[in-house]
Amino acid sequence: MDTQKEKSGWSDEELEASVDAYLKMLELELRGQTFRKSVENQLLREGPLSKRSASSVEYRMQNISAVMEELDLPRISGYVSAKNLGSGVISRIKKILAKKHTNALRKNIKRTAPSFSLRLVDAHQLQVCDAPLGILSPKQTSATVMRISRALSVKKWVEARSLGICEGCGQPAPFLNAKGEPFLEVHHVKHLVDGGTDRISNAVALCPNCHRRCHHSRDKDEFTKTLYTRIEGLSPE
Ligand SMILES: [Zn+2]
Ligand SMILES: [Zn+2]
Repeated sequence: MDTQKEKSGWSDEELEASVDAYLKMLELELRGQTFRKSVENQLLREGPLSKRSASSVEYRMQNISAVMEELDLPRISGYVSAKNLGSGVISRIKKILAKKHTNALRKNIKRTAPSFSLRLVDAHQLQVCDAPLGILSPKQTSATVMRISRALSVKKWVEARSLGICEGCGQPAPFLNAKGEPFLEVHHVKHLVDGGTDRISNAVALCPNCHRRCHHSRDKDEFTKTLYTRIEGLSPE
């Protein structure tokens, strides 16, 4: 690697361009499509990384692999994790990933292979940067029909956290919705009508079966308890 340039410090734009390129290659790899790392490297240096050497870009990709590994996310197989980097760069890469990775990766869920480890997103990392605060006491706007306004961002965030995998049974969403996104229902573990909050610490993304199970099954209380132990960031209310 080019030590001199490493020392000179990478801008946020450069790091973001690196993460974008990494996720693009990862997506191709997960789809089983071929790409050439040397070509991607050159494209970056003809564009946003024009100040960097080929080896410096290569090393940055290895850094991103190291962060992906730490977060238990899939990695590009050809980039050996290089962990020898400052904690400042690590946390900046994490922040950029938190912004991007859920959307980029959920597209790649292999529906025939539910054991694929995408489930293991580090919810805590997301919380640090992106988590919506949600609503502590959702408004009840009508006495007859208890219409409860929900913070859309909480729903979106929980869907992103799930990466298209049901947080109840660990199986991929049963089908895609009209927009081509995995169909999961966002459920409030302590129901809104019972005074539960509309926050990510009280919301899970479930397949329709698990959702019905939480509401109607004989073992709904036991099943609900297992959600608290399995999903990081949930807290009983
Ligand atoms: Zn389920
Ligand atoms: Zn529900």
